[in-house]
Amino acid sequence: MQTFIDWLLTTNPQRRIRLQLTGVATLLMLACVAVLNLLARFSGTQPLAIYVWTFFALGGLVVFFLLIRSGYSERWQDPSLALIQISYAIAANAVAYALAGEGRGVVPSILAVILMFSMFGLLVRQIIIVSLFALLSFGSAVAYVVWHSQGSNAWSLEVANTVMILIVLSGGTFLTSRLQHLREGLNTQKKELEAALEHIHQIALFDELTGLMNRRSMNELLAQECLRSDRNGRTFTVALLDIDHFKKINDSYGHRAGDIALKRFAETAEQTIRATDHIARWGGEEFLLVLPETEPPSCVMNCLNRVRERITAIEINHEGQQFSFTVSIGFSTRRDNEMIEHTIDRADQALYSAKQNGRDRVVAG
Ligand code: GH3
Ligand code: MG
Ligand code: MG
Repeated sequence: MQTFIDWLLTTNPQRRIRLQLTGVATLLMLACVAVLNLLARFSGTQPLAIYVWTFFALGGLVVFFLLIRSGYSERWQDPSLALIQISYAIAANAVAYALAGEGRGVVPSILAVILMFSMFGLLVRQIIIVSLFALLSFGSAVAYVVWHSQGSNAWSLEVANTVMILIVLSGGTFLTSRLQHLREGLNTQKKELEAALEHIHQIALFDELTGLMNRRSMNELLAQECLRSDRNGRTFTVALLDIDHFKKINDSYGHRAGDIALKRFAETAEQTIRATDHIARWGGEEFLLVLPETEPPSCVMNCLNRVRERITAIEINHEGQQFSFTVSIGFSTRRDNEMIEHTIDRADQALYSAKQNGRDRVVAG
């Protein structure tokens, strides 16, 4: 059964939805066909006219179904063919009105169902076009019926039916515009929520000022690195980088200048490290660098000295004042099964000794 449904409606999700809608419309049209045939039998309408109508009413829907099923309709602006399908159904119903004889009073309720479909698939502009088209079609159908009817009460029945049709059309247009308004509101809300979620994600994982990972993300990354290292037996190095006399920069050039220095520090460090290394803002003017699978201490020392030199080369021009700064670095390589906090403590002690020994240097812990 499932294979048959997949064959009939395809497995392309969008095409499937379109075909399901066309399928439901076909079922409704089938019901409509059955009602009309039943009415015709009792009201003495010419059977030939009804057969021709049935052929076109159902045949049209089959054509729409095939156009969507084959993917041909995807070449057009609206692959669901909503506007054409609805207009076709309206035209078929207007003809049904002309043919239904005494029973034509049921047609406005069918029109209401067609408009219910339109509410979901059409824009307000399109529903107005559909309504005008429906007015024209039903106007012609009513005129045809009046023209061919005899008897004095023909007018009153047609006026009543016309009023019903007008009520259905104006109600449909009004509800579509309300629905679209609600849909637009929901879309805006959805976009705002997505933006807020993205912002929350951003501030939860990254530092706002420098754009680097924050301490929380770095802690997660360190935990992952520990697991990886325990598995493959290859250790890694952590380095703590602290800007020297940063307080003086703030005091001499202002907090804004301090912020600019932090941003330039982050950019430069990121550009200097390898793609496999990671850097995070660990605290105020302190940064933590992870060098995975690092080689002998001399290589680490070279790498960190390169970072230090590049930082020292930064020149900041802020409001006519020019300054540069240095950085002290302490690092340690994680020992077998060592808790990461201990590795960081050792890097911190090394950083302390770098500060004690005159700053602007790299010390191994
Ligand atoms: P040391 O060489 O011993 O590291 O001295 P220091 O002045 O760099 O260290 P200290 O810890 O005394 O001062 C750090 C300063 O960093 C104090 C704080 O106001 C400043 N700071 C922390 N976060 C920010 C920030 O986001 N922006 C700016 N402009 N300053 C910050
Ligand atoms: Mg400092
Ligand atoms: Mg500090």
